[in-house]
Amino acid sequence: MSKVIEELTKYAHKLVDQGLVVGAGGNLSMRDGDDMYISPSGFDLKEIEPHQWVKVNITTGEVAGDLRPSSEVLMHLECFRKSEEIQAVLHAHPTYSVGVSSAGKDIPALFPDFPAMVKSVGYIDYVIPTTNLLAEKVAELVGKHEVMIMRNHGVLTLGKTMKEAYFFMQLTEESAKVYTISSIFGGPRILTDEECVELRNLSAERYRSKLLKE
Ligand SMILES: [Zn+2]
Repeated sequence: MSKVIEELTKYAHKLVDQGLVVGAGGNLSMRDGDDMYISPSGFDLKEIEPHQWVKVNITTGEVAGDLRPSSEVLMHLECFRKSEEIQAVLHAHPTYSVGVSSAGKDIPALFPDFPAMVKSVGYIDYVIPTTNLLAEKVAELVGKHEVMIMRNHGVLTLGKTMKEAYFFMQLTEESAKVYTISSIFGGPRILTDEECVELRNLSAERYRSKLLKE
C-alpha cells in the first residue's frame, strides 16, 4: 500500500471513530504528484478498501477507474489547484462546528491551542453542496485560511500533511464544543486579539514542531 493510501485509510478511520462524520458524510483527499486520491462516493469512510480510493488528475479532473469520486470532488480539486503547498484536504460535518456556525456565530478562540495552531478561519454562507458555486467559494479562500467553516454544512481543513489537516479539524470542533458549553454557563471569556498574537508568537513554533513529529 502506498504511503498516501495508508494515510488516507488511517484518517478515514479516525474521522468516523471520533464522531466527526456520520454515515457516508465527509470526504478526504491527498495529493500524489499530478493526481489526487479521494474517497469514493457513497461509502462509509471506514469501509473503503485500499484499491477503492479514486485517482483524479488535478489539472484535468479526469477520473481513473470505475468508482465515482466523492460528490464534493470539485472543492478538493480547487484546493490542490490553488496552492502547491496543500497536500491534504479534509471535509467533515462535525456537530458543534455546524451547530455554532449555523446559528450565525463564528467559532472563537477560547483556549491556547486553537489560536496557536490555526492562523485563520474563513466562513462560507450556505450554498448547495457539491456545486461549482461551492467550489468557487472555497477556491476564493484557499491561501487565506487553513480552516473554512461552511455554515449549515460542515468544515473543510487544508494541511501540508494529513496529520495537520486532521489536527485543524479536531481543534475547530473542540473550540465549538467549548464555546457551546461556556455559553450554557453564562457565556465565555474569549481570548483577546492581543492574547492570540502572543500565543502565536510564543507557541506556534513549539506547537508546530510537536505536531509534525511523527
Ligand atoms: Zn459535506
